[in-house]
Amino acid sequence: MTPTYDAVIAGASFAGLALAQRLRGRVLLVDRDEIGENQTSACGAPLRLVKAMGAEDAVQQVHERLYIYTAARRHEWDLRREPFCTFDYRRFCDLALSRSSAEFVRASAQRLEGHTVYTTRGAYRGRFIADCTGWRAALASTVAPPAAIEQWRAFGLESEVTCAFPAGLHFYFWRDCVPDGYAWAFPCENRVRFGVLSYRGETKLRPRLQTLLDRFGVAPESMHGGYLAAGTYDPVVGDLFVVGDSGGQCLPLTGEGIRTAVRAAWQVGDLLSAVLEGEATLAWAKDAYRAYVAAQRRGIRFLAAATWAAMRLPDRPLDVVISAFSGAAGQRAFLRRYLGMFGQTESWFP
Ligand SMILES: Cc1cc2nc3c(=O)[nH]c(=O)nc-3n(C[C@H](O)[C@H](O)[C@H](O)COP(=O)(O)OP(=O)(O)OC[C@H]3O[C@@H](n4cnc5c(N)ncnc54)[C@H](O)[C@@H]3O)c2cc1C
Repeated sequence: MTPTYDAVIAGASFAGLALAQRLRGRVLLVDRDEIGENQTSACGAPLRLVKAMGAEDAVQQVHERLYIYTAARRHEWDLRREPFCTFDYRRFCDLALSRSSAEFVRASAQRLEGHTVYTTRGAYRGRFIADCTGWRAALASTVAPPAAIEQWRAFGLESEVTCAFPAGLHFYFWRDCVPDGYAWAFPCENRVRFGVLSYRGETKLRPRLQTLLDRFGVAPESMHGGYLAAGTYDPVVGDLFVVGDSGGQCLPLTGEGIRTAVRAAWQVGDLLSAVLEGEATLAWAKDAYRAYVAAQRRGIRFLAAATWAAMRLPDRPLDVVISAFSGAAGQRAFLRRYLGMFGQTESWFP
């Protein structure tokens, strides 16, 4: 007989773990890798978010400043109202998992039929199903036509190396090194995550990363990377809830996708828990999640336009635009809107 759960979640990274924490009932998490094994991210996120996931012990360094470097100069942003941190991915995942009562199965989710997820370890049935498998959208892609889940994909590659570096999150718009994207340096204790990103989704980024590392006089250690998926198409396919990068919820321009994945997952967790407790119907939860994602579209369109500008503007005009947002009032206005994206909307509950 097919094992049956209240919810089956494919993918046990940021979105999957956040959803498992919030969902009441009997929950199964399915991931093709062990929990925390497969880091793709630079793991920079708001400190408050990491704490709310119960993963404060994974924090490596707190950052109250963000620096944007253009060809001409450095712009400093104040993050003291919402400090960010860099954290250890494996530890984060272990701590987040320990905060949920979900069961875990290591298996690759292959397809969805109705409410049954077929995996390499057998089939599992759930009253609710969520696809949290990242840009591959492993389940959604088996039930939705490709056009319905089309994503815009950037690609990032990074290497974590041992060296000293000033605190803060550092972003470099250096065209000689990253012609269609940006580079970053995220310090984490005595190590630094150096990375390069191509907005166009160019994957052969090793030479660019090498150029960046040469500039700082450090040698690459192990590398990791992957796609960042933006799109925010309809996040409900049939009865399937699509959350995080699989729903294209990574933000254009900045490539920030941890906060958005976790917050969208919390939203879905709260909605489905209300259904489980008989307070709401599944149809209501689907509509509420659709409305939640639709409310992000304006901000996402703005960030997509800013990405377009960042790719195409020559150095000087790009510097002028960044300067315009880097004054105290510009920073406050941008950060208020930006950090408000994918916020929580408790008021929707019936
Ligand atoms: C180089 C790089 C650096 C980044 N740095 C940052 C950063 O500093 N801050 C930030 O906010 N964002 C960052 N991002 C973006 C961020 O990593 C993603 O937006 C975020 O990981 C999305 O979380 P998720 O849970 O949706 O998907 P993922 O983190 O991609 O997790 C998907 C999970 O699904 C599993 N999976 C995949 N296929 C299957 C399958 N068929 N069956 C079962 N399991 C499956 C995977 O093993 C994985 O555990 C970065 C991205 C890259 C590529």
